Amino acid sequence: MTEKLTIIGSGPAGLTAAVYASRADLSPLMIEGIAAGGQLMLTTDVENYPGFPDGVMGPELMELFKKQAVRFGTRIITSDVSTVDLSRRPFTISVGSDEYRSESIIVATGASARWLEVPGEDKLRGYGVSACATCDGFFFKERPIVVVGGGDSAMEEALFLTKFASQVTVVHRRDEFRASKIMATRVLEHPKIDVRWNTVVDEILGDTSVEAVRLRDLNTGETEDFATQGVFVAIGHDPNTALFAGQLDLDEMGYLRVVGNTGTSVEGVFGAGDVVDHTYRQAVTAAGMGCQAAIDAERWLDAQGMGH
Ligand code: NAP
Repeated sequence: MTEKLTIIGSGPAGLTAAVYASRADLSPLMIEGIAAGGQLMLTTDVENYPGFPDGVMGPELMELFKKQAVRFGTRIITSDVSTVDLSRRPFTISVGSDEYRSESIIVATGASARWLEVPGEDKLRGYGVSACATCDGFFFKERPIVVVGGGDSAMEEALFLTKFASQVTVVHRRDEFRASKIMATRVLEHPKIDVRWNTVVDEILGDTSVEAVRLRDLNTGETEDFATQGVFVAIGHDPNTALFAGQLDLDEMGYLRVVGNTGTSVEGVFGAGDVVDHTYRQAVTAAGMGCQAAIDAERWLDAQGMGH
């Protein structure tokens, strides 16, 4: 059997594409991935998704997206895609030993957290080093914590961690935050949060769990071993495009390059969400792009005589 449309990825972009495509009677197949739901699964309160005046929890929002997609006939496989072959149509998508054929694909694989890549980080990941305050914050009750980064994610993590930590220290490599004003102000005004400006983490110290971070002041070059039990890394994300390298055009940062609105360098393959967008990267913009990609895929299938 050949699918009309397969959606790879299940964040706001993928699931919105699924809602639109299933309501267009395309009966899409979604390969949602092991880390289903995308980055909102790792967040707490979402206050800027329209329609939720009191805010909504990230995982709850994704559950609602998914319910809506399934209601209209999206079929979901909870596995990671192993390989794709986009060299001819129908395209082939391998999931372990299973192969799926599809006339069109929407790539909505999102982006993943970036790591500092300093000594100690790898070894102590899960033992005090984390990229997810929501997942791990609870383990740091009444303990000092360091958050690295100056964007909205770092602000969000720092604020969330104040619920548990005795003290939160934000370490940022510049002298101003990249984060939105409202988030930055909340951090700067929070009594439990200190900021170390113009500072980087050179090393994470500890044998079996984090004991300190080696901080370096970029102005003076001075280093200091700063005692802490947790290090939350919130320095941005990289697009999940490894699967498509050599088959789809990527830009210099590895993001999927779009042609026209949501097209890619291969006809019949569309892209949406954080895998494409390194400017806005919001749940609502990803959802919007997912909608566009589904409409583009539907029109393309129609033009090929494969729509219905
Ligand atoms: P981001 O905006 O790209 O910020 C990354 C931060 O990490 C920057 O401050 C950057 O420093 C720093 N950084 C990058 N690489 C580093 C390294 N190797 N060592 C030390 N510091 C490093 O990423 P983000 O915070 O994950 O946010 C991504 C997008 O999601 C943004 O559009 C943001 O608005 C959105 N977002 C929104 C919310 C919300 O509204 N509630 C929450 C989370 C994220 P520089 O500033 O010096 O570049």
